[in-house]
Amino acid sequence: TYVIAAPCIADYSCVEICPVDCISPMPQDPGFEKAEQLYINPDVCVDCGACVEACPVLAIYKEDHLPLKWQHYTQINADYFSQK
Ligand code: SF4
Repeated sequence: TYVIAAPCIADYSCVEICPVDCISPMPQDPGFEKAEQLYINPDVCVDCGACVEACPVLAIYKEDHLPLKWQHYTQINADYFSQK
């Protein structure tokens, strides 16, 4: 899966490009509001990589390519969806 890490500024470029709408907050979410940090649902992501190039601040990494200091973001992204 892909993971969104600390640099995220929530500019939503990735949300628009994701083919499976797995980047939060999803427009179909009734509680949809502008967020300050976006996350990827690891159970839905199809590993296409489109979001990586869409991101203006290099906040998105393939899980196994995350910089060491941001490796805990894999769990943070997953936890966001398990809370729903
Ligand atoms: Fe969506 Fe593709 Fe990015 Fe996964 S890798 S979050 S499917 S755009």
